[in-house]
Amino acid sequence: MTTPLTRVLVTGGAGFIGSHYVRTLLGPSGPGHVEVTVLDRLTYAGNPANLAAVRGHPRFAFVRGDIRDADLVDKLVSEHDQIVHFAAESHVDRSILGAVEFVRTNVLGTQTLLDAALRHRIAGFVHISTDEVYGSIDAGSWTEDAPLRPNSPYAASKASSDLIALSYHRTHGLDVRVTRCSNNYGPHHFPEKVVPLFITRLLDGGRVPLYGDGSHVRDWLHVDDHVRAVELVRTRGRAGEIYHVGGGTELTNRELTSLLLRACGADWSRVDHVADRKGHDRRYSVDWTKIRDELGYRPATDFATGLAETVAWYAANRSWWQPLLAKAAL
Ligand code: NAD
Repeated sequence: MTTPLTRVLVTGGAGFIGSHYVRTLLGPSGPGHVEVTVLDRLTYAGNPANLAAVRGHPRFAFVRGDIRDADLVDKLVSEHDQIVHFAAESHVDRSILGAVEFVRTNVLGTQTLLDAALRHRIAGFVHISTDEVYGSIDAGSWTEDAPLRPNSPYAASKASSDLIALSYHRTHGLDVRVTRCSNNYGPHHFPEKVVPLFITRLLDGGRVPLYGDGSHVRDWLHVDDHVRAVELVRTRGRAGEIYHVGGGTELTNRELTSLLLRACGADWSRVDHVADRKGHDRRYSVDWTKIRDELGYRPATDFATGLAETVAWYAANRSWWQPLLAKAAL
C-alpha cells in the first residue's frame, strides 16, 4: 500500500531556515510522500536562489504572496493538510529601528493563517518561534512553561504570535505545535545576522562590529539540527505542546568572534568595539530535555565542524551573498 501524499504549506520557505527545511524535506533523506508549497512574500530576506535546488521538483510549488493576504491564504490553506510557519520579520536590530512590519507580519500574519487553518480544519500547524520570547536568563535554562518576558520588539511580536497560536489550540482545539529554538547558523543565512555578517565582512577584508563588552551569551544551533527537530515535531509532536530546540554550544559573543576570526584567517585588529544594542538580552538558554525524551532529538552537528563548513560555504558562494550586501545595510 502506498502512503498518501501529505500537502504541506511552508510559509517563509525562501528564507534561511524555511528554505533549508524545504530542501531537506524534498531531498534524498526526506519522507518522500510530502508535497510542498512555499508561500513567501520575498522581502529583503527572502531569496528565490535559496530554492534553486528544488525548483522543478515534481512535488514542489512556489507562490509569491503575503501571509496577511486573507483571500490568498484561505485558498492555499484549503488545498493543504498541514502548515509549517516560518515566515516572519526576523532581525532584532531592524525591530529596534521600526516595529510596524514586525507586528503586522509576525502577529497579524500568524493570526490570518490561523483563521484559515481553523476554517479548513487543517490537520497540523507548526509555529516556529524563538528562545527570545522569554527575555534574558543569568543562569540555568528555561523550561517550556517559563513565563514570557520578551524585551525587543522582535521578541515581543514573536511572543504575541505564540500566544495567539496556542490560543487557537486551547479555544478551538486546532492542532497547533510551537517550537522555540536558539540561535541558528549555517549556509544561506542572510548577511545581517552576526555569523554571516562577520564571515562575509572578514572574507571581503573588512571590519566587524562587536556589541558592548562582548559578554552576551547565545546557544548555537546548526540549521540542519533545527530542521530535523521541526520535522520531528511536525510528524510526531503533540497538539498544544511547546518544544524547545537547543544546539548545545553556549558561547559569549567574544568567544564566537574569536572562532570566526580564526576560521577566516583574521585577528582582533579587524574588530570594532561598538555601543551595545539597545535592550540587549544578556543570555538565552533553553532546556531541550522534553524534545529529547519525547521525540528523540539531539543536536548532531559539532560546532567547530559546522562553523568551518559554514565559512567554507560562504567562501565558495560569493555570488550568493555579494548581491545581498546592499540590502543588508541598516
Ligand atoms: P529569514 O528572515 O531568513 O526568513 C523569513 C522569510 O519570511 C523570508 O523569506 C521572507 O521573505 C518571508 N516573509 C517575511 N514576511 C512575510 C510575509 N508577510 N508574508 C510571507 N512571507 C514573508 O528568517 P529565518 O532566520 O529563516 O527565521 C525563520 C523563522 O525562525 C522565523 O519565524 C524566526 O522568528 C524563527 N527563528 C529564527 C532564528 C534564527 O537564528 N535565524 C532563531 C529562532 C527563531
